[in-house]
Amino acid sequence: MKKLRIYLVQPIVLLLAVLFVYFNSITPTMHIPETIQKEATIALEHFPSLKDVPIHFKFKKNIKKSVMMAQPTFGSFFRSKKKRGYVILISEKFKINNQEFKTIHVPKDVLIGWLGHELGHVMDYQQLNNWEMLIFGIRYVLFKEHVKSAERNADLFAVKNGMAAYILKTKHFILDNADIDPLYKKRIKDFYLSPEEIRELVKEIGE
Ligand SMILES: [Zn+2]
Repeated sequence: MKKLRIYLVQPIVLLLAVLFVYFNSITPTMHIPETIQKEATIALEHFPSLKDVPIHFKFKKNIKKSVMMAQPTFGSFFRSKKKRGYVILISEKFKINNQEFKTIHVPKDVLIGWLGHELGHVMDYQQLNNWEMLIFGIRYVLFKEHVKSAERNADLFAVKNGMAAYILKTKHFILDNADIDPLYKKRIKDFYLSPEEIRELVKEIGE
């Protein structure tokens, strides 16, 4: 039994050591696809504190239940928080009334608002250390209440960083569009800040 444990422990320790060395040898960099360069730059300008944070904006064929998604890169869990990198996944397509549209073809300001919300998530993640980040991820998968607080926080960060007008355009684009998937709309209503809440917030912070 003791021998078996040693057999198991050694490869795991070795694997972890290799991962630590490997991921600490690469430095993540900022990457923005040409097609969304303008929009991403405008969104990023609202977040000066993320100036030196490497974010990889990446298109993906499809994302479940969402259009975009922000998360730390896998390698970040093997590095110090200072060297953490993020990936913002963007679904290539977007469904309206069972017709597929390219995400890059939504109005410019709507796209900027969407990206701003994702950068709000990154702001939120920047406050967490690696362990807290891991726990955050697990809670996000398991608890709806946590999804709600995470999504509202992302909106909040975007609004506080002066993106209210863009965020509102994105909300209205989704909520006022009769042809958008009702399930997606319901998710936006249940988990995110409502346009009224955003307007209230703007009054409060006096933008
Ligand atoms: Zn979100």
